[in-house]
Amino acid sequence: MLHIGIDDTDSVKGGCTTWLATEIIKELSDFDLIGSPRLVRLNPNVPWKTRGNGAVSFTFGKGKGAKEKIGEIGNFNIFSFKRGMPIRYDSHEILERIKALVLQHSHPDSEPGIVVSEVFLPEGLYWQGVTDIVTDDILSDALQGIISFGFRGSRGICGAACSLAWSGNSNNINKISHTWELIGYRKKSNWGKKRHISLDSVKKVSDLKGVFSCKDSDGKIAMVPNSPCPVLWGFRGIDYSILIDNFHDIGPEKPERWLLYRTNQATDDHLRFKEISTVKEGDSLRAEVIVSSISETIEGGHRFFTVKDFSDGVIKCAAFEPTKNFRHTIDRLKIGDKLIVCGSVNSGTLNLEKIKIIDLVTRYSKPPNPICDCGKRTHSSGKNSYYRCKKCGKKYSRPAMIECKSELELGWYEPPASSRRHLSTPVSLMPKL
Ligand SMILES: [Zn+2]
Repeated sequence: MLHIGIDDTDSVKGGCTTWLATEIIKELSDFDLIGSPRLVRLNPNVPWKTRGNGAVSFTFGKGKGAKEKIGEIGNFNIFSFKRGMPIRYDSHEILERIKALVLQHSHPDSEPGIVVSEVFLPEGLYWQGVTDIVTDDILSDALQGIISFGFRGSRGICGAACSLAWSGNSNNINKISHTWELIGYRKKSNWGKKRHISLDSVKKVSDLKGVFSCKDSDGKIAMVPNSPCPVLWGFRGIDYSILIDNFHDIGPEKPERWLLYRTNQATDDHLRFKEISTVKEGDSLRAEVIVSSISETIEGGHRFFTVKDFSDGVIKCAAFEPTKNFRHTIDRLKIGDKLIVCGSVNSGTLNLEKIKIIDLVTRYSKPPNPICDCGKRTHSSGKNSYYRCKKCGKKYSRPAMIECKSELELGWYEPPASSRRHLSTPVSLMPKL
């Protein structure tokens, strides 16, 4: 088979690796696409990432058996075969054809990489790339005997290789091995212009079964990017046929081309179980912890609190302003509450992606001040002190605190879709138990 991985063709200023993927499929239309193209997100904490740190890979061959339509470029239909047979090809000639496209379309300050391989790469490389840093040694080992090419520094070779190492079949912690994203692209003449997608049309598709990250609960559209890139929208879900059957409802602006990707988005593959005492900068972790200080708000509306785990490791957690109402959950946590925290360590602080409340300590509220025998309400004489009647001077001891119900429920809490990471599993898809 012919396996191709590409990465890092875009930059913070625009461009899009997945749009280039559609051009590559058109260029290689003398071959059949086996399975769907794969959009693979890698470690969200690497310092040099482009916007989403996403790489794309495909498998080409001679299709066998049934085929399905998974995309369209103008009038050109893109089909995918479930199974395929190997084909003869000249790797260097294929590389030249792809290089020409990448040179033409990649952004001048990107560092694109291309990998062409007859086989999938070992899955360990993917796990290294999604949870950690892939060193030059690891990468050169994995690429023994495999053709790769990079431009302008070639950082992209690493992502391209890692995407060819993702099987999408692993049984991960949330039992979500992969999800799907159908991406619609705009006409070139519209790139950089305002996108015309109505909230009504987004609402119509957002409640379909297994669909996620279309909009925030406050109505903000999350499936339409703000960057000047060619993407019109990204429609995500766990059942690809629902995406293909319903994307026509999104509008009024219609895509000039569209393509279905199998992805590791929403899998939580980047998270690792770790003791807090062993976490290092750039780790993404999932840990069971106890709240050890209540939330403090700093300028800008960001929230910070600390947690500790059973190893007595302590870490500061952060919920930043864009996490919106998620911060109100954080504000209501009390010392002793038991949580699962998921997030990434940046400057020694765990930036929260979601939390699960496993247990809540008893909440207490202050009872009303005692009424004096004379009928007047007493006043507190200071913290932990007695109550006193101002009229007749009688003193009363402080009444016991009243147990009350927390405003929080057990379960998962997350920031809105628009501030969620591609790799984070949305709460709607988390296992119920
Ligand atoms: Zn009195």
